[in-house]
Amino acid sequence: MMQSSIFDTKIELLKGVGPQRGSLLNTELQIFTFGDLLQYYPFRYEDRTQFHTIAALQDGMEYVQIKGRLRSLELVGEGFKQRLTGVFMDTTGALELTWFQGISWVEKHLKIGAEYVLYGKPSFFQGRPQMQHPEVELLTPANEHGSGFVPVYGLTEKLRKRYIESKAIAAMQKNLLEKTYQAIRETLPDELLQRYKLIGKKEAMYNIHLPASAEWLRQARRRLKFEELFYNQLRLIKQKVLRRVDYEGQVFKSAFLLKDFYEKYLPFQLTQAQRRVIKEIFDDMRSGRQMNRLLQGDVGSGKTIVAFICMLLAIDNGAQACLMAPTEILAEQHYNGLKPFAEKLGISIEKLTGSTKKKARTAIHEGLLSGTVKIIVGTHALLEDIVQFKNLGLCIIDEQHRFGVAQRAKLWEKNKYIHPHILVMTATPIPRTLAMTLYGDLDVSVIDQLPAGRKPIKTVHRYDAHRLNVFGFMRDEIKKGRQVYIVYPLIEESEKLDYKDLMDGYESVVRAFPEYQVSIVHGKMKPVDKDFEMQRFVKAETQIMVATTVIEVGVNVPNASVMVIESAERFGLSQLHQLRGRVGRGAEQSYCILMTDVKMSKESRTRIETMVRTNDGFEIADVDLQLRGPGDLSGTQQSGIIDLQIADLAKDGEILKVARACAQEILDKDYLLELPQYSMIKEQIEAHNIHQNNWARIS
Ligand code: ADP
Ligand code: MG
Repeated sequence: MMQSSIFDTKIELLKGVGPQRGSLLNTELQIFTFGDLLQYYPFRYEDRTQFHTIAALQDGMEYVQIKGRLRSLELVGEGFKQRLTGVFMDTTGALELTWFQGISWVEKHLKIGAEYVLYGKPSFFQGRPQMQHPEVELLTPANEHGSGFVPVYGLTEKLRKRYIESKAIAAMQKNLLEKTYQAIRETLPDELLQRYKLIGKKEAMYNIHLPASAEWLRQARRRLKFEELFYNQLRLIKQKVLRRVDYEGQVFKSAFLLKDFYEKYLPFQLTQAQRRVIKEIFDDMRSGRQMNRLLQGDVGSGKTIVAFICMLLAIDNGAQACLMAPTEILAEQHYNGLKPFAEKLGISIEKLTGSTKKKARTAIHEGLLSGTVKIIVGTHALLEDIVQFKNLGLCIIDEQHRFGVAQRAKLWEKNKYIHPHILVMTATPIPRTLAMTLYGDLDVSVIDQLPAGRKPIKTVHRYDAHRLNVFGFMRDEIKKGRQVYIVYPLIEESEKLDYKDLMDGYESVVRAFPEYQVSIVHGKMKPVDKDFEMQRFVKAETQIMVATTVIEVGVNVPNASVMVIESAERFGLSQLHQLRGRVGRGAEQSYCILMTDVKMSKESRTRIETMVRTNDGFEIADVDLQLRGPGDLSGTQQSGIIDLQIADLAKDGEILKVARACAQEILDKDYLLELPQYSMIKEQIEAHNIHQNNWARIS
């Protein structure tokens, strides 16, 4: 972050740290230097600007601060039940204090008759106010008017055991800021500080650790968030621009098969959104520079055909195409989706995964090297060095943000002379803010329209007690010739119970619908049996399919119009959306019925309500981000791209938008950052790169 060497000083050399605490900070918090500690920001703050009187305490209050005198301490109970109680008084009343742990410490350090400042959460017993395990500080001139906003730092168990609490970290920060304040250098150009009304770096660093007031804290956070997002976006956009300039791309101009396909075999009219996206991709593939593009589209928006058409352009020009998916099931799904199109045109397509048999594998390797295999669909198995192409022209990566940058890069290298074009496809929409940070180095195409004639799926929420009504509705639909899915959750931790639920559910469905055929499919079945049951449902020999989430991917039965999801409160939002996407593929009105217990957590309720409210995958993804935070969304941890320290993608979308526009504007003007007013930005980026490389060597 900062250039001067003082920030590179080993943390153990800070007053009050020393070798032992220093090594704990190293291992527990990855804090090695002064600079690391300064950048270890609090994750929240306690407001200790106000005092409460004991008489004003009320039930249900959060943490409060009270000034008063300790009147007595008394040990009560014996053995395990032993506890220490005290009476604490101010001019308005008395408060009972209780300690169950650390009793001897309290007895030794607290003095009856002395004045203290207490901080804790009040509760009431028989109308009398109480407080358990309050924080206690001797009343001094330093705290008698409150301690302002007290920072709370993230800690580990091990640190706590060694008495390194938030307070200790705050004290270290105070020491450090006193020592280094003058050396903290500005990291944003004046122009930006002025334009966006941001406070200086020094003030921001000081106030993030030791806020002078609520307003200073707000300004400090705003400034540091902006800075973080600005540099994050600047690096991503710079990468994008540099790549454009640096990497030549194969030029794909001919279109024989493509024309043939459009004229004879295209099974439906493309939507306007599909056509627009194809044009954007084709423009890239003909431009002479390498394509790096993200294709987003909701479930059912028709990404498969778009992928195939782009592959055709590559094949038309003597190149090969590959599609890589993060799991075998997804690879299988893509293979099954593309194969019918390829067969019509007589193009050879193969599938390569971890479970491909040795003999077939060898044949595929040979076919790819000689060029007889035109399209290959697979998993990580495609990344192996032994997989060589005659001429790889287009790589499509379906990732649900699961592949890391390094893996993406590995595919680049698959072509010896010139990088293949890269199209990253997400299976479900991802929130805009996440896309900007995860994929900010890519161009973006969005299919924001579903094929015509689709009726929006109607989604309702029903409690378990109304299952008979739901069965009645299912019967009506089946009588009209439709088919029904019933999906049960299955998670590893409760696998046994989940299977029991599934089998019980299956039996009750069989009993309730004696006149109809019922399929069952789950992950424990042999692949052949699974396939057999799936096929029976596909051929409409069975009317009801009872399944676990294995059907989330892989089946496409346009005649199925009802999706019943059991214990829907246990599913995540994106999974619910994926499951719902299994219906609504035909021309009929489709329904999704979310069954839950009456008891639900607040978060589950929000998920269910969101599903009932909207069919829009992008909106659902946004809610998901709000509920879970970016760290928990699938795959973002592994991607290693989001190492934001202070900005929060769920909350700081506005700042991100402004920061990105600002970064874009600067790079448009001066993408090498050669203008004198941007020299500071250039230095920052270079310093960051060195820092990153150091990390790469360590880890
Ligand atoms: P996803 O984007 O979820 O991968 P698919 O590519 O599987 O969606 O397409 C969903 C269904 O819609 C498929 O059955 C596909 O054949 C069909 N489809 C795709 N594009 C169109 C279109 N333009 N008109 C009609 N049906 C289409
Ligand atoms: Mg798909």
